[in-house]
Amino acid sequence: MISKRVLSLAPYKTETTPAKIKLSSNELSVDFPEEVKKHIGEEVSKIPFNRYPDPEAHLLKETLAQRLGVSPENLMLGNGSDELIYYLSVGIGELNRGVFYPVPTFSMYRISAQVLGREKVEVELKEDFDIDIQKSVEAIQEKKPILAYFAYPNNPTGNCFSEEKIRRIRSLGLFTVIDEAYYPYSGKSFMEEALKRDDTVVLHTLSKIGMAGLRVGFMVGKEEVIRELNKVRLPFNITYPSQVIARLMLTEFYHLIEEEIKRVIKERERVYLELSKMEGIRAYPSCANFILFKSLRIPAELLHKKLVEEGVLIRDFSYMIPQCLRVSIGRPFENDAFLEAMERVLKKLQVFQK
Ligand code: PMP
Repeated sequence: MISKRVLSLAPYKTETTPAKIKLSSNELSVDFPEEVKKHIGEEVSKIPFNRYPDPEAHLLKETLAQRLGVSPENLMLGNGSDELIYYLSVGIGELNRGVFYPVPTFSMYRISAQVLGREKVEVELKEDFDIDIQKSVEAIQEKKPILAYFAYPNNPTGNCFSEEKIRRIRSLGLFTVIDEAYYPYSGKSFMEEALKRDDTVVLHTLSKIGMAGLRVGFMVGKEEVIRELNKVRLPFNITYPSQVIARLMLTEFYHLIEEEIKRVIKERERVYLELSKMEGIRAYPSCANFILFKSLRIPAELLHKKLVEEGVLIRDFSYMIPQCLRVSIGRPFENDAFLEAMERVLKKLQVFQK
């Protein structure tokens, strides 16, 4: 008795092939030092495992609010921002009104809309990966969606869409979600607008700054908007250990995270330059912690497979964008391993093609 909505659903894809160098999921490549983990472990051991956690995660919310310069009432927490995307698709507009998002993009917008039976209003990005405003306006006028998602920067393309185009689409009467999962690497945000407006929220996550295993995402918006959406949230959605660990990481150990973010931004520029120099490769500029690139001569699938054989795992996105792959930025030695493996594979395969 599984519904047609679910039967026809393409599942969320992840890359779990084991590899020595893992640059496939846009995580922070570095784990935290042993002594930090030991201290955190001691704090975790004080948790009463038999008790439910604080359903509102007050202490974690306060910590986040302080860091962001907002009030805790402006925040809603999710088991990853994935969960918040579900809640938004459940809570914004009636379910007979569609959901708009430019494609290719992060697949949870599609999945959450489809599971709920909402119409998916998808408009292809232009060749430069920015929003096609004319086609978007036409599709919105025809299909009248009520909710819009923008990944900012976009995953997997790595660019930030034009702010003016986002605002133009919002002005057509759509509740607008700005998914800023990669904000620490772009520094660009709609947060100020989200705090003032009834039709805008932003999403952030701890997953891209070293805490993917904790599953903590958060939404920032006007108190009145957050209060209503919070009714949709499953109680106790943030586990006790996640509340404790995230709070410690964001207070006592935040300097470690900041250092890593800076390093990743520097490395991103280096990897982009090195990839751009490679024959048969076109790299796209990125303001996130990953780079999308196109393989111009060798099938992307083959390149991906050969890199795995070299011990390097990246993501093959050719099912979404022809011939494109995405590499996450890791530690310098991991990025070197990737670049060297690329050189070797390209050399070998291009020679064989002659
Ligand atoms: N939004 C975007 C644009 C993403 O790329 C991702 C992670 N792939 C997420 C949201 C989900 O992040 P989280 O781990 O917080 O669920």
